[in-house]
Amino acid sequence: MVQAATVAIDVGHFIEEPGATSARGRPEFEFNRELAAEIEAAARGDGLKTVLIGYDGFMSQLTHRTAAAAGADFFLAVHHDSVQPYLIRTWEYDSVERRFNDDHAGFSLFISRKNGQVKKSLACASAIGGALRGAGFTPSLYHADPIPGENKPFADKANGVHYYDNLIVLKTARSPAVLLEAGVIVNRDEELRARSPEVQKRMASAVAAGLERCLAKRF
Ligand SMILES: [Zn+2]
Repeated sequence: MVQAATVAIDVGHFIEEPGATSARGRPEFEFNRELAAEIEAAARGDGLKTVLIGYDGFMSQLTHRTAAAAGADFFLAVHHDSVQPYLIRTWEYDSVERRFNDDHAGFSLFISRKNGQVKKSLACASAIGGALRGAGFTPSLYHADPIPGENKPFADKANGVHYYDNLIVLKTARSPAVLLEAGVIVNRDEELRARSPEVQKRMASAVAAGLERCLAKRF
């Protein structure tokens, strides 16, 4: 790379609408914020430039996110996963009834065929998935299941990459774009892993390494 590429790292959701809720009642936004900050640190350590979007929790307009990323060479949305509502069960944690499902675990990656740079989006998603697998993480694969709400076809099954064409941030991003679901936080074990600083750091350095590898290539 002659000039360092700039990666926009988008913290999924915001305080008022914080996304999914973990098996122990923690909002997805808080998981996203921690991991996005770790990914930013790792990407900078690898020589990439970064823009962190939505960290303060007040970014309520999706289109403001892609606008904030206008000058970036790549857009990475950071999320944590749930399952379809009809698969949810309940348990009691800390004297409160909470919602969980332990059937699924693992990361998944999404790209949109409506993004202007599908080829590079896919190459980077595959590179990130490959790096995550190399670091000991496993793709969840269930988003391709033929059940209502899923049916997201594989773009690269081995690396956990699906097509999700109408995802707003992916199709409106002006750069190649990937959405990462880092782990399934309604899964009671995976929630604990996702909260572990060691796991967050290992995941972040794999994501940054995959990105660095793919952004160094010409398309
Ligand atoms: Zn989310």
